[in-house]
Amino acid sequence: MDEHDIFSLNERFEQATTEEILRWTWQTFGDKVATSSSFQTQSVPLLHLIAQVCPQMVVIFLDTGFHFSETLAFRDELQARYQLNIKVIYPAIDKNQLFRQYGEGLYRQDPDLCCYINKVEPMKRALHGLTAWISGVRRDQTSHRQGLRILEPQADGVLRIHPMLNWTKKELWNYINRYQLPAHPLFAKGYPSIGCAPCSRPVFAGEDERAGRWADKDKTECGLHL
Ligand code: SF4
Repeated sequence: MDEHDIFSLNERFEQATTEEILRWTWQTFGDKVATSSSFQTQSVPLLHLIAQVCPQMVVIFLDTGFHFSETLAFRDELQARYQLNIKVIYPAIDKNQLFRQYGEGLYRQDPDLCCYINKVEPMKRALHGLTAWISGVRRDQTSHRQGLRILEPQADGVLRIHPMLNWTKKELWNYINRYQLPAHPLFAKGYPSIGCAPCSRPVFAGEDERAGRWADKDKTECGLHL
């Protein structure tokens, strides 16, 4: 696929539905494509669509060792409900080793390094041998994401595919309500966006939905989507 193909497909996919993009992706790449999920409330529409269009697709879950127990339980609930083909990937060093090597506060002192060890490097391993990776990011989530395209070739040769890029928060919620999709157990406790426990807090009235992520830092992305 050259630059011209990517350009034409991006033009076409701006008008396409998420189902159409998923169907094209599965037909084009088959078992050389995987998606990843953080198993939060906002992740459910994409997983629901994948379960209908391409249920065999691998869903990568990065188990950083810092997730809320509710996230792990929600992941298991969704796996049972939608028969998802989940593959759990762990960091190269476990939590004990991490603490011995860097102390227990690495997420505070150097969150970029912590995310690299626990998310970015494991994801690189998970993508080894794959041609494409589907991510559920949306343009309305962060300023960085506003500039993304639906198909984004990466330097490592893996094609990033963003089939939900044009969804708005309102459309996401309409979909969740229409199909009565389940919510992460902590959603009702003020977590519209949730990641590792030490780096997620509930949001307050009037705050952005991602305001609880790395709330006391400039950081807005873990590095997977940069
Ligand atoms: S989100 Fe926080 S705890 Fe999780 S890997 Fe990143 S810095 Fe570490």
